[in-house]
Amino acid sequence: CGIVGYIGHRDAYPIVIKGLKRLEYRGYDSAGVMLYDDESGIKVCKTKGKVSDLEAKANEGFSTIGNIGIGHTRWATHGVPNDVNSHPHLSNSGDLAIIHNGIIENYAPLKEELIKRGYTFKSDTDTEVLVNLIEEVQKKENIKLGKAVQVALNQVVGAYAIAVFDRKNPNEIVAARLGSPLAIGVGEGEYFVASDASPFIEYTSNAVYLEDGEMANIRLHKPIKIRKIQDDSLVDPYIQELQM
Ligand code: GLU
Repeated sequence: CGIVGYIGHRDAYPIVIKGLKRLEYRGYDSAGVMLYDDESGIKVCKTKGKVSDLEAKANEGFSTIGNIGIGHTRWATHGVPNDVNSHPHLSNSGDLAIIHNGIIENYAPLKEELIKRGYTFKSDTDTEVLVNLIEEVQKKENIKLGKAVQVALNQVVGAYAIAVFDRKNPNEIVAARLGSPLAIGVGEGEYFVASDASPFIEYTSNAVYLEDGEMANIRLHKPIKIRKIQDDSLVDPYIQELQM
């Protein structure tokens, strides 16, 4: 299971696909990608199987345009490995997209509550519950994505590395971790997110490793902002120089 994300000036698709291949050693049963461009909005391609199966599916007419993208390899924990349960998952409105490695242990009561509020679910995953919980928090409190992710994660029991995208504010990726690794590559006018540095080492040698319980606002042309999920305290990003 692995996570890759890109926001910058390059085509995101080849970076995400190559990155997912570098993370194949972690094991997985499905793969998927979300790309965003202003004209077509959010586009998702996902499938059970290998990253090469994902490429084959994308070759059948999926538009690979976009300078923002997130990609995922899934190791199924909730819901069988199939196309629908593959990540990324979208929220009910279609505004939010998420990729997630880990487990949301209390997904059942959260899902029940969301269904009462009118949410519907396409997949059997715990992850789709999380993205809709973030959406519900965002709508109820009328707050930005980062804040909504933080409030939602404080209601969650489990383990996660996540990357979340909001088409209402498409210059940002929000990432968070608890119990699963997450590295952020810091380039010139571009950022990378990944389970380890291998997907971005050829583009930048500067990396920030999130600690457990931290989240990051990764915004184009702005410094990364890292805070503790639980108490909202700011953390100074420690940018490491990786050995190429
Ligand atoms: N629990 C999530 C699922 O089953 C994520 C699994 C993973 O770590 O890839 O879809």
